Amino acid sequence: MCGIVGYIGQRDCTDVLMDGLEKLEYRGYDSAGIAVFEKTGIKTVKTKGKLIDMRDKLQKEGSPVGHCGIGHTRWATHGEPSDQNSHPHSNGRVTIVHNGIIENYKELKEFLTEKGYVFQSQTDSEVVACLLDYYYSERNPLRAIMETVKELQGSYALGIIFRDFPDRVYATRKESPLIVGIGENEYFIGSDIPAFLKYTKNYVLLEDDDIVCMKTDGIEFYDVHGLPEKKEISVAEWDVEQAQKCGYPHFMLKEIHEQPGIVGNTVESCCRDGVPYFDDIGLTDELIRGVKRVFVVACGTAMHAGIIGRYAIEGLARVPVTVEVASEFRYMDPIVGEGDLVIVVSQSGETADTRAGMELAQHRGAKTLAVVNVKYSAIARQADMYIHTLAGPEIAVASTKAYTAQISVMYLLAFRFAFARGTISEDRMRELTAQLLSAPGSIQRVIDRKKECQFIASKLVNADNLFFIGRTFDYALSLEGSLKLKEISYIHSEAYAAGELKHGTISLIEQGIPVITVATQANILAKTISNMEEVKARGGVIIAVCRKGTSFAEGTVDMKLEIDAPELDDMLVPLPTVCALQLIAYYTSVLRGIDPDKPRNLAKSVTTE
Ligand code: GLU
Repeated sequence: MCGIVGYIGQRDCTDVLMDGLEKLEYRGYDSAGIAVFEKTGIKTVKTKGKLIDMRDKLQKEGSPVGHCGIGHTRWATHGEPSDQNSHPHSNGRVTIVHNGIIENYKELKEFLTEKGYVFQSQTDSEVVACLLDYYYSERNPLRAIMETVKELQGSYALGIIFRDFPDRVYATRKESPLIVGIGENEYFIGSDIPAFLKYTKNYVLLEDDDIVCMKTDGIEFYDVHGLPEKKEISVAEWDVEQAQKCGYPHFMLKEIHEQPGIVGNTVESCCRDGVPYFDDIGLTDELIRGVKRVFVVACGTAMHAGIIGRYAIEGLARVPVTVEVASEFRYMDPIVGEGDLVIVVSQSGETADTRAGMELAQHRGAKTLAVVNVKYSAIARQADMYIHTLAGPEIAVASTKAYTAQISVMYLLAFRFAFARGTISEDRMRELTAQLLSAPGSIQRVIDRKKECQFIASKLVNADNLFFIGRTFDYALSLEGSLKLKEISYIHSEAYAAGELKHGTISLIEQGIPVITVATQANILAKTISNMEEVKARGGVIIAVCRKGTSFAEGTVDMKLEIDAPELDDMLVPLPTVCALQLIAYYTSVLRGIDPDKPRNLAKSVTTE
């Protein structure tokens, strides 16, 4: 959510900051700005809108010239998106960029107003600039930061510059990501590694409450008490290419195409001798046998991956699994504790609600297992056990490849759970794992037939409303297909358990309304077909997504998209099937003239509640 960048070195700072912000665009934003030390003082340029508007403004007002500064893309939480509310914010001798929410900003604002501070924006963030100024004395920025963060409640990543120190960038964080890039006599901050990957692969992770001071001649890290800290430098595994479109018109399409490789790599990385193996992360068969209940706690698409996990784990291993929306779980006083395994799923590993849910579960004595795509993220580091999905950088806001990697892991967990608990034999575990290892083939076959998805999209493009229906695994897919379509095409869509339709929602079916019916599961196919007929009888247009060779009575189906996956058990068919739903959403978005990579109002990693 939003992006922070900062730079000190010999390069043109405006270039580096703008370049970094561009790399963070995927995180979602509504305004942007930079502040750079020029010879005569700090120059700030900021605007509501996109980076292209920012570039316009830079051209009109003149790009700041200097070698030290900070930049920001804002995803408004307090105060509308406007020039005035855009970051950086300056007050007194301090200029800041902030990501997150200052929960006690009202009290702080009152206090600071009494002290004579006048506010220029409606943001919560501006109190940080004022408070830093308030505590700044004797030319001691470090002390001002330490005193200020003591007062802040909520989450923050902060890039800070002090008027008196034109050769320093300070930064600190709590519950919002911030990474320091280490170059040769140059230093960077970024909300994510791609912000500075072009210049350096070396990075340092800031822990909560760490403070960093970057100068041209060196870098210093301090803990919350101002004591110097030594930090380990890591080397990013990603390369610049992975964070680029590589000829695809959109990141989303590129990421959909990457799925065969990603599923293959993720599955292989979790297997040894042809079966899932988790001993190395501490998830032993003994631990698995002791698990009383499983919770999957996640948000959005990751939560939908959890629903697939639920059907797979319960179906195979006969352990009760509950899937909880993280923002509910954390506040509903859940009955969770010793003997429970809480699986937290997050692409970014920074999702605020998921992280809080995990911390609550840990606090109550449950074991936590993170399924996360970003190795250096807070959730990956804090969980008791961690499985790394190997999806690589996911830039498009709508998650695709991270989801298929997540469900691959869910299947592997289901296989191992079932084997460890004696509900399937070793042979069956081997057989299912072999099928999963072959899934990239069927995913590729769906991608190769993307024209058919494009055709279906052309039939949806003018719809105002549509439905997705399905049962069990097909229902889980309906939820994900519907979410994907809503996110990037802005068409209203509802996902329903097919059998639930007649308990109310069928009243919404009218002549010509498209109903995408996912019907891949043989054991309930006849039931789903009955539901299709009910819809058909009321004028709905049925688009069936089914296994190759599925036949329907004449007149039941208006369009059919077949998934060619003879080698896969029904349970595993969601892997290729979801790719078809992703492609339908993608093409619908493009046909409606929307940029699927940057849908309105959405942010990539949701680091606020
Ligand atoms: N809460 C701050 C604001 O609304 C920062 C939002 C962000 O993370 O971009 O300005």
